[in-house]
Amino acid sequence: MKIDLHAHSIRSDGKDSPTEVFEHAAAAGVEVLALTDHDTTSGWTEAAEAASRLGMTFVPGIEVTTRSEVWANNRRRFISVHLLAYLPDPNNEKLQSAMSQTLNFRENRAKLMVERLAEDFPITWDLVLAQLAEGATIGRPAIADAMVELGFGQSRSEVFRGPLHKDSKYYVSTETLDFFDAIGLVRDAGGVPVIAHPLGGAPEHLERGDLPEEHFEAAIEAGLAGFEVFHREVPQVAREWLLGLAQKHDLIVTGSSDYHGEHGKPNRLGENTTAPEMYQRIVETASGSKPLN
Ligand code: AMP
Ligand code: ZN
Ligand code: FE
Ligand code: FE
Repeated sequence: MKIDLHAHSIRSDGKDSPTEVFEHAAAAGVEVLALTDHDTTSGWTEAAEAASRLGMTFVPGIEVTTRSEVWANNRRRFISVHLLAYLPDPNNEKLQSAMSQTLNFRENRAKLMVERLAEDFPITWDLVLAQLAEGATIGRPAIADAMVELGFGQSRSEVFRGPLHKDSKYYVSTETLDFFDAIGLVRDAGGVPVIAHPLGGAPEHLERGDLPEEHFEAAIEAGLAGFEVFHREVPQVAREWLLGLAQKHDLIVTGSSDYHGEHGKPNRLGENTTAPEMYQRIVETASGSKPLN
């Protein structure tokens, strides 16, 4: 059974509607799919309808934007951590207010980036908004789409490698929820918190000290349920460390695509999958909502 627990729709930065995401997943042979738009549950209703029509299972999820203070190699830094929340109660007030606060932060940050870009490119805030469905979670991808529309790049990925790169002078980081607070929030909402693409994008020559084991141990102590180990951006060396940690603490390990649409990102539905036993554990651990067929 193909179980893919991470996908995005136009409710955040994916290119397909929730219905299209499920249609494409069905075509790829995926039977169980989580929709995990960034900081929103607004795609859930449509996803549930599509799954039911297609004879699939929809797993309600959110990819929560968080930030964590980390000590590694005697250096303090803030890292961005994406926390997948499976099956939380979408009506939980604390979770809802944290998400709406994040949406505000994201909007302010995107405006700042557009202001910086506007010094060198003919980009406007309206053009960025025109790339988004109404009420969708804003992020760099909408800015990238506007840049592509203006002819400054052929694809999102190209713009992400250029002016939207983390090291670019136009880049602004997002003020957001603390990672440890987010773990508590998700648990209190009956959800199952799993770190998305841990150490994603880090180079293959990672060293043990780059993985602050204490940081992960503290997160586990705070209620972290697992790691998304099988994801195209997680380096092989990190996978080994993470699997070891998961085994030591009896955690959940998942695998997913992180699909953003055919042209959003190269990630393809079902390219990584989650073992049925691990999926069962998520369902059994959750008390906020249930998968829908
Ligand atoms: P942000 O959260 O606003 O900093 O934007 C980063 C998000 O853009 C991540 O969640 C990525 O998954 C997403 N993204 C979508 N398309 C791309 C792409 N082509 N290259 C890099 N990141 C992308
Ligand atoms: Zn995304
Ligand atoms: Fe992510
Ligand atoms: Fe994602």
